[in-house]
Amino acid sequence: VDFGFSKVTFEQKRALVRDVFSNVASKYDIMNDLMSLGIHRWWKDEFVRQIPNLQSHILDVASGTGDIAFRIKKQAKEHNKVVSITLCDINTDMLTLAHDRAINNNILQGLSYVTSDAEKLPFPDDSFDYYTIAFGIRNIPNINNALKEAYRVLKPMGKFLCLEFSKVEKEWLKPIYEFYSFNIIPKIGKIIARNESAYQYLVESIAQFPDQDSFSIMLKDVGFDKVSYKNLTCGITAIHSAYKL
Ligand code: SAM
Repeated sequence: VDFGFSKVTFEQKRALVRDVFSNVASKYDIMNDLMSLGIHRWWKDEFVRQIPNLQSHILDVASGTGDIAFRIKKQAKEHNKVVSITLCDINTDMLTLAHDRAINNNILQGLSYVTSDAEKLPFPDDSFDYYTIAFGIRNIPNINNALKEAYRVLKPMGKFLCLEFSKVEKEWLKPIYEFYSFNIIPKIGKIIARNESAYQYLVESIAQFPDQDSFSIMLKDVGFDKVSYKNLTCGITAIHSAYKL
């Protein structure tokens, strides 16, 4: 299946992404472990370590089943800090799973859930100390709109953090990674989530996403300062950070 992103409109992509995540929601967590051989757990742990001040109000966009929010909560608890996190996702099926997980794990206080598009957030200006988004931004049709919204809702001195698939830096790894992405992942999707095309979409969306330096320029263009990134696992993913000064 070739989704031919260059040919689809923002509206078509929005509908496609909604279908993809509704279809795979119940298998989402197990698929993450299988596809990344469990490494996504380490990437996410490293991501939440970039939040030094846990006594804060955090907006986690594209929350999905809540992996980032729960990690932040755990870290705050270990440091005896009270954190408040708003989980925001365009897909209510994913947020419902996050809510169920929170109840099952007895994580009840300080979490709120908002169904919303990252391109049009229902929050006032200058509301949050941190804006986090993990494996979500590449699914957003107009990334620039989402970045402008991130900038708007952050308080002055607020920190933007994004974890996303990026461009592999090591030449020797590129063919192995490409073979694995385009041939193995859709097959795992077919067997486990019974949805090969959804995982074909995910792989294509990774290939289409801007590389580390291009994404950094997009952040600077919407007004962010102190823009930097840190590659994880040879650039398979990268953590981007930036401040609203
Ligand atoms: N952050 C979670 C994690 O790291 O496991 C979930 C990531 S999941 C790959 C991507 C999520 O982005 C999905 O739950 C999807 O519904 C959400 N999403 C896609 N487009 C969105 C948009 N325009 N606004 C908000 N969320 C969106």
